[in-house]
Amino acid sequence: MKQTLLLAAALVLAGFSSFSQTPAAPAPTGPFIQAPLPYDFGALEPTIDKQTMEIHYTKHHKAYIDNLNKAVAGKPEEKLTIYQLIKKIDSQTAPLVRNNAGGHWNHTFFWNVMSPKKGAPSGELLTAINTTFGSVDKMKDEFGKAAAGRFGSGWAWLIVKDKKLAISSTPNQDNPLMAVAEAQGTPVLGLDVWEHAYYLKYQNKRPDYVKAWWDVVNWEAVAKNYAEAMK
Ligand code: MN
Repeated sequence: MKQTLLLAAALVLAGFSSFSQTPAAPAPTGPFIQAPLPYDFGALEPTIDKQTMEIHYTKHHKAYIDNLNKAVAGKPEEKLTIYQLIKKIDSQTAPLVRNNAGGHWNHTFFWNVMSPKKGAPSGELLTAINTTFGSVDKMKDEFGKAAAGRFGSGWAWLIVKDKKLAISSTPNQDNPLMAVAEAQGTPVLGLDVWEHAYYLKYQNKRPDYVKAWWDVVNWEAVAKNYAEAMK
């Protein structure tokens, strides 16, 4: 807990420095910062073990941010929000920017669609899931197939596309907001299926990780994402 508070304080200071009048400090203190994790590293156990969460947040996610800040230093991209930057990515974007901006946006999104609080889809989200897939279980099956079928590293997504729910997956750190995505739309739920997200606990058994993961989905956040995407 003490570590979490210290980390939060450091992040606030890092964020404050980017708003100051003095010239931007050299990377890694750049314009993109890592928001505090909304729960403790061990909060999603046993589904996601503490060590995986700690390495994932403090090493992997942080590295995407540091590398993104280095890649955009002194360029117009560093003045954009991460969302604005993601929306500008196309096939001409430098891979360093595409991969690291994606890595930053995707992980920030991922932390927020998980929670130790148990829940289930309800309201308009539940209605939409039932209308599109037939039932919550059928949606989970289809999502699970997208997650298991993504060859190599990438992400599985539940998205809103043309005001309807759909399931897709993206390679590497691409996401459905990018013009390069096969299925473009607004993510409402996303799952990291890179081995670094599950290997310590699940080893090569990605389908077991995907199945267990539903236990830690933050359905309140997903419902909010859905409502926002339908506006
Ligand atoms: Mn990851």
